[in-house]
Amino acid sequence: MTATLVTTPTPTTGTVASPATQAETILSIRNLVTRFKTGDGVVAAVNGISLDIAAGETIGVVGESGSGKSQLFMSVMGLLASNGRATGSVKYRGQEILGLAPAKLNRFRGSKMSMIFQDPMTSLNPYLTIARQMTEVLVQHKGMSQSQALKRSIEMLDLVRIPEAKRRIGMYPHEFSGGMRQRVMIAMALLCQPDLLIADEPTTALDVTVQAQILDLMRDLKREFNTSIVLITHDLGVIAGLADRVMVMYAGNVVETGAVRDIFYSPQHPYTEGLLQSMPRLNSDRHAELPSIGGQPPNLQDLPPGCNFQPRCRYAHARCLAEEPALRPCGEGSAGVPRAKACHLAQLPLTEADRAVIEADRAARTRH
Ligand code: SF4
Repeated sequence: MTATLVTTPTPTTGTVASPATQAETILSIRNLVTRFKTGDGVVAAVNGISLDIAAGETIGVVGESGSGKSQLFMSVMGLLASNGRATGSVKYRGQEILGLAPAKLNRFRGSKMSMIFQDPMTSLNPYLTIARQMTEVLVQHKGMSQSQALKRSIEMLDLVRIPEAKRRIGMYPHEFSGGMRQRVMIAMALLCQPDLLIADEPTTALDVTVQAQILDLMRDLKREFNTSIVLITHDLGVIAGLADRVMVMYAGNVVETGAVRDIFYSPQHPYTEGLLQSMPRLNSDRHAELPSIGGQPPNLQDLPPGCNFQPRCRYAHARCLAEEPALRPCGEGSAGVPRAKACHLAQLPLTEADRAVIEADRAARTRH
């Protein structure tokens, strides 16, 4: 399945204009394919994704573990494990960066595009003070003197609301709480004022109160710097108040995309519908069992025939087993954001015609 969310003027099947047409495009991804060679075979992690990210835009990328959402952006940043290989094209402001040697790629990483991860301890060096780690970035990328870099680093810690930044910048990562470490990581990622911040599950390891504080902080920083943000998460609740556009991924493909409001209020792909139904809500019965999507994500070394979601889909019918659905436009999108989905159904809730096809298929299978 090739997922395409591009600015190409004539929408055809699998090609959907993005709001990036109205603003300058920062990052342009075309037909990105990522494969990992393992002892058990080749893992198909990302299957031909195309996407434009506009200046100042926030995109939420949602899916379960193994949906390819992290590997898509690890490919963009040149951070794949040694057995991984990405092909296709990734352009930063028109310049091809996919496959660049690490030394050349380092000119973009940190200064133009930054990435933060779920566990800041994997990115912060436990042996060095925060001051040393932050100033090094500015000295290397911006050519600042040590004292200029220290002043700027303290300003950034203030900005991400680290109390007593001047004193605490001399401390080691283990002397900060989890939430504070994540703030330090965000401050480091924004030191060079990159055009694009990729945040991979930035709040997953934090308790809910700190989670809300970090999301508020990202919202404020987006306003302050007009940074484009990619927010990768398995939790649709995290993106509700922050993202402009949502991209739902399953088995290395985009299965649905649209404005955050459209995705939340009228999901058009059964997988998105399942994700939303499994979210706890304030008004739901606290004692009732939360619905979940049955089954497991597919084995990426041996994907099911037809639609990758069919073994878990409650609407699956004969066509789903035989034919892989392409990503195609589906209805008017709100806020100027086009909608698209990769599903054979006309729409959700089911139309009479779709219901009849599913029921006829089930009746035929029962007869055999
Ligand atoms: Fe379900 Fe079929 Fe749509 Fe796949 S194509 S999501 S199996 S209805």
